[in-house]
Amino acid sequence: MGSKTVVNNYGSFDVILTHGQGSTMWDSNGKKYIDFLAGIAVNSLGTNYKPLVDAVKAQAEKEIHICNYFMSDTGVQFADELLKATGFEGVYFGNSGGEGNEAAIKLARKYGYLNGGEKRHVIYTLKNSFHGRTMATLTATGQDKFHPAYFAPYVEGFKTIEANDWDAIKTAFDDTTAALLIECVQGEGGVNIVDADWAKAAAEAARKAGAIVMADEVQTGFGRTGTLLASDALGFNPEVVSFAKGVAGGLPMGGILFRGKANGVFKAGDHQSTFAGNPLACAAGLVVLHELQKEGFLQSVVEKGDYMRKEIASWKIPNVGEIRGKGLMIGVDIVEGKSALELEKKLLANGLLTSTAGKNTLRIVPPLNISMEEINEGLNILKSTLENL
Ligand SMILES: *Cc1c(COP(=O)(O)O)cnc(C)c1O
Repeated sequence: MGSKTVVNNYGSFDVILTHGQGSTMWDSNGKKYIDFLAGIAVNSLGTNYKPLVDAVKAQAEKEIHICNYFMSDTGVQFADELLKATGFEGVYFGNSGGEGNEAAIKLARKYGYLNGGEKRHVIYTLKNSFHGRTMATLTATGQDKFHPAYFAPYVEGFKTIEANDWDAIKTAFDDTTAALLIECVQGEGGVNIVDADWAKAAAEAARKAGAIVMADEVQTGFGRTGTLLASDALGFNPEVVSFAKGVAGGLPMGGILFRGKANGVFKAGDHQSTFAGNPLACAAGLVVLHELQKEGFLQSVVEKGDYMRKEIASWKIPNVGEIRGKGLMIGVDIVEGKSALELEKKLLANGLLTSTAGKNTLRIVPPLNISMEEINEGLNILKSTLENL
């Protein structure tokens, strides 16, 4: 099948998904799945959401790509509305989360150089964080399993601190620190929520040392945790936010938002990408943004997430440990010697798309507009599969 023709870097399952509707998908054998995965928190409005499909079709007929010598009207409109909605002063568009974080890292390095010379170049990230697969973002990722010897040497100038470690932030930052990069809810790391008080104190300590503060919101951004940005709720006011995944409802789009001391750091020529600000992705981004801004939409994300966590807890299944999360980013620890990966495979066989994260956690990140019927159908599959794991 596909595994013979596409490079197998993923250990992909032997399933070919052909189409979907809302938060339901079908494979090439006609088998139905409830979607608790959304292409890893990407398809924020599910599959075949008509306004999104229509906007992309209409944009495709106008122009698909123009390159950054010019601006597209759709790109300008998306940038304007994005800044208005988020309270940031500037935006750089890339095409993925890794590229967003690369841009953040470059901005931090230049900021450090301008405000303390060459020695101010260290970027702190959190242990257990995930920031991407490019060389710099891989180095920034705070998990040893992502740093095999065969990719060495890694990029210089990255350090980690433990999230929620109050002692660490007393001494970590100094005149060599360019930036602190916080992943607000660690997605790949196991759906671990950073404590709001600690994040604020860490940000304050970093700023006191002369550094800027950045948030990796590639997974948490754009409604996933029930606010437009997760850092809005945590309250540490980052100067830079990286985004990607859900921002354009499935089209490749990523980048950074910046403000305050981070605004004006990048000058023409400092950072570019050929595909960046692609009009198709911007057209899709506008539809997603408008949806998130509808009265009650973000509140419904909070309520659906709370409902799902409460339901799962109410089953009192022995192989379920801690249930964590914020909004529709949910982690369920699997205990009693059972394997989250095994669970994921059985769920797939039983018609439910999910993923795993961290050491042994089932990760649930459905489309943000998933219906209550689909939630309950998916929860039923989860319950019976957990009972027979
Ligand atoms: C997925 C993810 C990335 C990497 O994004 P890509 O689009 O795969 O490059 C970076 N940071 C976080 C927090 C992510 O969840």
